[in-house]
Amino acid sequence: MSIISKFILKENNGVKYYTIPAFTVTGLVKHGFSTRIGGNSEKPFDTLNLGFHTGDNVELVKENRKRFSQAIGISLDNIVAAGQIHGDKIYQAGIEDRGKGALDQETVIKDTDALITNKPGVALIAFYADCVPIMYLDPVQKVIAIAHAGWKGTILKIGRKTVGKMQEIYNCLSENILAAICPSIGPCHYEVDTSVINQVKNSFKQWDKILKIKDKNKAQLDLWEANRLQLMEEGVPEENITVAEICTYCHPELLYSYRYSNGRTGRLAGLIMLKEE
Ligand SMILES: [Zn+2]
Repeated sequence: MSIISKFILKENNGVKYYTIPAFTVTGLVKHGFSTRIGGNSEKPFDTLNLGFHTGDNVELVKENRKRFSQAIGISLDNIVAAGQIHGDKIYQAGIEDRGKGALDQETVIKDTDALITNKPGVALIAFYADCVPIMYLDPVQKVIAIAHAGWKGTILKIGRKTVGKMQEIYNCLSENILAAICPSIGPCHYEVDTSVINQVKNSFKQWDKILKIKDKNKAQLDLWEANRLQLMEEGVPEENITVAEICTYCHPELLYSYRYSNGRTGRLAGLIMLKEE
């Protein structure tokens, strides 16, 4: 799988991060998806680890978060972080939430796996190492969202539920919503066992499009396609969905992969904010 994709890799002050051209051209948001390049953490968290619950030095993580947010032009004071429990709760973030979870784990928005806002200057962040990050932008209603979808969140359909919330709260039309599936574990490296296979089969009518059965007990699961299909089921046009097709496991020098590192590694982050003007 090629590293060249529909995402663009940028660098600012040594920090490397991806941007989504479909989002950039709207002129409405500041956004980025991090890599492990440009921070100051040491092995096995080298170098731009953005997650506190990793075993890394908290002060280094704070400094890394500062570097990453500065690289894309967002102040840490504007950031709201989700607690992330592999659930399907979606939180509507407001001005009063700015700063929550930005520099500590205690003040995160608890039990939440997706954040949504229409407030300029409220920056939404979530953290990943293999789980699927989905970023959303409705350029008409000017609404953004970010979701965290591992296999559990994917089966709970947090991806499409986030679109549903955008419709419900902000009167977004799904046909206007842009969505991006950011770097995460690819079908090439995501083997699952019977328990997950059965849950996927129960949850997805089109399960044969996302599971490649290897033998009685094993299958390769395509979380990218599982999320792409559910966004389309919710009415997001195929041409509005950018899939990075960048596998974290395939690129350990550039990205953190929980599976590649047997669980001891850093965290990447997606960060997005409507510009204040
Ligand atoms: Zn891979």
